[in-house]
Amino acid sequence: MPRNPADLHVWSLPLRTRFRGLTVRDGLLVHGAAGWGEFSPFWDYDVAESVAWWRAAREAADEGWPEPVRTRIPVNVTVPAVDAETAHRIVRESGGCRTAKVKVAEPGQSLADEIARLEAVRDALGPDGAIRVDANAAWDVDTALARLVALDRAAGGLEYAEQPVPGVDDLAALRRRTHVPIAADESIRRSDDPLAVARAHAADIVVLKVQPLGGVRACLELAERIGLPVVVSSALESSVGLAAGVALAAALPELPYACGLATAQLFQGDLVSDPFRPVDGALDVRRPDPDPDLLDAAHASDELTARWVARLAAVEARA
Ligand SMILES: [Mg+2]
Repeated sequence: MPRNPADLHVWSLPLRTRFRGLTVRDGLLVHGAAGWGEFSPFWDYDVAESVAWWRAAREAADEGWPEPVRTRIPVNVTVPAVDAETAHRIVRESGGCRTAKVKVAEPGQSLADEIARLEAVRDALGPDGAIRVDANAAWDVDTALARLVALDRAAGGLEYAEQPVPGVDDLAALRRRTHVPIAADESIRRSDDPLAVARAHAADIVVLKVQPLGGVRACLELAERIGLPVVVSSALESSVGLAAGVALAAALPELPYACGLATAQLFQGDLVSDPFRPVDGALDVRRPDPDPDLLDAAHASDELTARWVARLAAVEARA
């Protein structure tokens, strides 16, 4: 359905540290009868893959979300591939998070860098915190086996390893050979068959992200069909987009792990006056509206706006 241009806002916000190769994050907000939705597929997602992201934005704007069953969502602090000192500070300043997700397998970094980062995170978190790593599918099975032994030791025990290897078969093979629990992320959100992970016994946990999976309701349905514990994570959204992840985490029948929704901390600035920031390691379940002044301040250039409008038109033609 074509939108009134006045209901579309293209935004661009700088990130505090380089993340996923990005120093700036941009996207589009859409306003509808139910509120604001965010459409912000990364630029490496093509038109076909971006259709699900648009479905999630339309659900937020036009329908709203199912009723919550909880009021607080425990969250993890995300530690990018930074040096040990910075990692320590990020955890200390995380708003009381008791779980840390540490990025590993960054190109150009060594195992020694990762060990130093994990030791720093453990030191900052204390003995009772949980540490998980995310390799974004960068290892092969043998590398993952060797790395996980070293990283598990450096962390003083890993809660789980997120997508250490690409592909369901590799995940299943690795899972049979390591005691570290395995979480599937890319194998769910960039797959034509997200149930393959469950059929192959390839993971202990699944990471669900609202935008790439087509909305809160689509994720609730998928979670039920997969039948494994779910960690709801962001796709590096503004707090308008994060509200959809919070709504999913709030509506899941069970929520045994901290969620990856504290990523507003990776942004310089936001689109709402009260961004999703953890207090005592958790987010309140709520739905903040964008602040008009902050929307103005984050307003994208004419060139970027034109790129998003063209992208949306291409996606809507496919949807
Ligand atoms: Mg991941």
